[in-house]
Amino acid sequence: MADTGWTSGCSSHWRGRRHRNLALVLALACASTAQAQQASEQYRVRRDAMVDLIAAYGVSDAATLRAMRAVPRHEFVPAGHRERAYGDHPLPIGYGQTISQPYIVAYMTEQLQMRPGMKVLEVGTGSGYQAAVLAELGVEVRTVEIFGPLAASAGDRLERLGYSNVTVRHADGHFGWPEAAPFDAVIVTAAAGFIPPALVQQLAPGGRMMIPVGSVYGVQSLILVEKDAEGEVRTRNLLPVRFVPMLEGLR
Ligand code: SAH
Repeated sequence: MADTGWTSGCSSHWRGRRHRNLALVLALACASTAQAQQASEQYRVRRDAMVDLIAAYGVSDAATLRAMRAVPRHEFVPAGHRERAYGDHPLPIGYGQTISQPYIVAYMTEQLQMRPGMKVLEVGTGSGYQAAVLAELGVEVRTVEIFGPLAASAGDRLERLGYSNVTVRHADGHFGWPEAAPFDAVIVTAAAGFIPPALVQQLAPGGRMMIPVGSVYGVQSLILVEKDAEGEVRTRNLLPVRFVPMLEGLR
């Protein structure tokens, strides 16, 4: 084989003047790869600390905690907020909307009691973070978002990160996703004034729904809706929460 001066990767040796510029470009690329690896390791350490805190707060389901450790939350927040991505608080994502507090994401996920192969509907895609956490459980995720640009960017982000089991639709979640129903679980991540009848209807027998209900400008109750095998529906009030309002009409 001819000696081209090539080896490969970040330890290449370069001979001759005509290769010098290329060598510089490669060196810079290697430096930035090393930097990216370091940043991703730092994010992983912070993410582990975040999940340890969530576990200390009482979330104990192993699959949920594993999913929370796997999803790179910093990829779901605007660049200017990356440094705060692993704090246990919501963050702005544009259009007056927020990515939810990680503890609440984990708590709601755990309550859904999903098993691989099940199907879940999310209302309020936002950044796509909650959808990614659900996708890590090996379930099929349908998610709807009322703001077109948020639906589009979340769809792109989820695809780029390899979440092929999530489908995003620009739609008003009050009506659910009738063609994909029934769902084993429904999760609403915006505060509703009432439980939308279509969502109860689209819940499978034995299914569970989590939805914050109450005053859209104050504190709401996180409600668990359970549909039994006979189709009987029961509701239980689990936790006081504060979500952005569930809106009407596509934007
Ligand atoms: N689950 C999201 C955060 C949700 S914030 C995440 O992980 O990032 C609530 C989201 O619900 C916002 O993006 C808001 O635009 C959306 N929303 C509000 N009303 C809606 C409706 N009727 N149908 C669908 N989405 C709605």
